[in-house]
Amino acid sequence: MGIQEPYPLDVEAVRADFPILERKVGGDVTVPGEGEGDTTPLVYLDNAATSHTPEQVVGAIADYYRSYNSNVHRGIHQLSQEASTAYEHAHDRVAEFVGAEGREEVVFTKNTTEAENLVAYAWGLNELGPEDNVVLTEMEHHASLVTWQQIGKKTGADVRFVRVDDDGRLDMDHARELVDDDTAMANVVHVSNTLGTVNPVAEFADLVHDHDGLIFVDGAQSVPHMPVDVQAIDADFFAFSGHKMCGPTGIGVLYGKQHLLEEMQPYLYGGEMIRKVTFEDSEWEDLPWKFEAGTPVIAQGIALHAAIDYLEDLGMENVHAHEQLLAEYAYDELTAYDDVDIYGPPGDDRAGLVAFNVDGVHAHDLSSILNDHGVAVRAGDHCTQPLHDKLGVPASARASFYIYNTREEIDELVEAVDDARQLFA
Ligand code: PLP
Repeated sequence: MGIQEPYPLDVEAVRADFPILERKVGGDVTVPGEGEGDTTPLVYLDNAATSHTPEQVVGAIADYYRSYNSNVHRGIHQLSQEASTAYEHAHDRVAEFVGAEGREEVVFTKNTTEAENLVAYAWGLNELGPEDNVVLTEMEHHASLVTWQQIGKKTGADVRFVRVDDDGRLDMDHARELVDDDTAMANVVHVSNTLGTVNPVAEFADLVHDHDGLIFVDGAQSVPHMPVDVQAIDADFFAFSGHKMCGPTGIGVLYGKQHLLEEMQPYLYGGEMIRKVTFEDSEWEDLPWKFEAGTPVIAQGIALHAAIDYLEDLGMENVHAHEQLLAEYAYDELTAYDDVDIYGPPGDDRAGLVAFNVDGVHAHDLSSILNDHGVAVRAGDHCTQPLHDKLGVPASARASFYIYNTREEIDELVEAVDDARQLFA
């Protein structure tokens, strides 16, 4: 695909917000931060694992700790009130960003994995039994796959998997066979972190709702990269992680329809989530605090607010368009080699990541050679081990793109891949 005019993002301006991108690498890894041996410019293509944090978000964290660090909801003093207000507004901002009704539907967690576990334990353990089934897909991340698999073992519910076809897409005919009146929950990944497939989650939600089941959509790889509206999808639950969208680690989001969250029992008990406690019993706080036991992720939540402001200033449509151009370019460049296998749909129909293998080169060796070129990719099964088993490979290398990546960086990637090919030829 040619360059679009006008180009969706001012990538040079974006890069200026991320000082880490000026880093050199290649030196002694026991010394964190740039050291003497670091001489190779960094090409960071591991964004599906964790994205970088712009100055604006680092500034929000620093500002919190420098000027109003305090525990929330527990103090009458001014700092506590300021922190509480900022923390609550962060929930409002997230609600607005993904189209939730309000803060009651937005629970802050540690990450997507914890959001999955929250629903699996608080809802699944109480609601599921041997007569029920839970429908997943073969491309689920371990965050949901392992969680529902284990809840299935505890409750006797049958856990079934919708097939992924040879093009890396969900076999929706198979989904229609698997989803039935005993389907209590489906868990579908919105964008596959291995295949780059964008799944028809709204269609899936309709299918599950027609059978009176619920659907949990894993949005860890969609929310950072494209406009998402949880109500348009009609997701009952939806989760994502701050560290993949310019925010810090330690913050994730569970969206849940209010009536479902109200019906659910808490997952963790303790302070902050209670309204009244006696020696005999306790009453729970209102949503979302009922699900945020103990001192919550205050700095991280406030920083997530800043990350959302940052992304929305760029425009999620622009973020998406930029990444699609990069993904298509990378796909085209890499498929030019007939000994490179790329998994998932074609370049013009995928999210901004490319998982691949080079014939005769283990993904770990490949990624190590890329690292010598300063190119950071992920090697392994990307927490989709059963999917890799199905693909017939133990591992793959994955390059994943974000707002600050450039075509020149993809050229570096391709050059490094070519080096690996020649080395192992
Ligand atoms: N789901 C998908 C699709 C992911 O890509 C990831 C992370 O890579 C997760 C869930 C888990 O996210 P976290 O590790 O932040 O809990």
